[in-house]
Amino acid sequence: MKGLVYHGEKKLRWEEVPDPEIGEDQLLVECRAVGVCGSDLHGYLGLTGRRIPPMIMGHEFSGVVRQTGKKVKRFAPGDRVCVQPIQFCGTCAFCSQGFQNICPNKKILGVMDFDGAMAELVAVNEDHAFGLAEGVSFADGSMVEPFSVTHAAVKQAPDLRGKNVAIVGAGTIGLCLLQFVVMGKPRRIIATDLSSNRLSIAGDLGAHTLVNSGQEDTVKAVLEATDGMGADIVFEAVGESPTARQSIDLAKIRGRIVWIGNSAKMVEIDMQKVVTTELNIQGSYGFTTETFKETLALMNAGKLRAERIISMKQPLSEGAAVFEKMLREKDRYIKAILVSD
Ligand SMILES: [Zn+2]
Ligand SMILES: [Zn+2]
Repeated sequence: MKGLVYHGEKKLRWEEVPDPEIGEDQLLVECRAVGVCGSDLHGYLGLTGRRIPPMIMGHEFSGVVRQTGKKVKRFAPGDRVCVQPIQFCGTCAFCSQGFQNICPNKKILGVMDFDGAMAELVAVNEDHAFGLAEGVSFADGSMVEPFSVTHAAVKQAPDLRGKNVAIVGAGTIGLCLLQFVVMGKPRRIIATDLSSNRLSIAGDLGAHTLVNSGQEDTVKAVLEATDGMGADIVFEAVGESPTARQSIDLAKIRGRIVWIGNSAKMVEIDMQKVVTTELNIQGSYGFTTETFKETLALMNAGKLRAERIISMKQPLSEGAAVFEKMLREKDRYIKAILVSD
């Protein structure tokens, strides 16, 4: 088969590699759509140490079953599937308490040296594959993974009804997250970003107040939108110092802040405000298989809108050029999906 092999910093090549071998309880899946994650872009630049060359990236994907192992019961060749890419150990203290997402023994397809889906074929465990409905495109299917990440984050702040919610950052994560916030029926949703293009999409997807942080006083705008109180709940969906700081600035006294952005390792924040106004800061990472299944059910039922977030679909074989384009024109593109037929 052919695969998009990462050979080190800024080196990505579409080349011949051996077909993956499948075990008795595995499926061989033809990849039809795979998303380029922010973490793939950072890995491509050699910044994180979480892509160990040579390897194949790709953890957000959907495709068609080509072949099944002897013990596989739920699938047959030709089935359309969406894949939960995180393999948890299932036996550690965290897994047994239902926190599979923070399992220290987990392995993620397309991360470190574990080959993922930016290839013609990928081997997948049967219990990680779930049916993708006929009416859902493969590209939309590949978005179930980022939607699941944000679904899990919104679960960290249950009961949004009647609350004022701020979302810092309207990139892929912010725009996916916004859709679960809307389902929680808050009083007001405020989205902040530096790009008016992203903010206008946030408006179309249900945000009531759009604040361009590069052009206006964000704290003032949020206070005006919340009767001078500040936001009950703030989601930080960027992961850099200025936005982490903003998440704290926008929260009301004793408010809840959920950090999902994961980019800079160290950030500088107003710790005094955290202490003196008794803020609750909660991190959110990944998702459990349960959350993935719930998210896929929403996608299969037509309840999630991926099309406004996907800004480009390009052939998988041209993946190297897509990575470069995404890095060169950050503001223009939100999500890129690599496709094959
Ligand atoms: Zn990702
Ligand atoms: Zn575990």
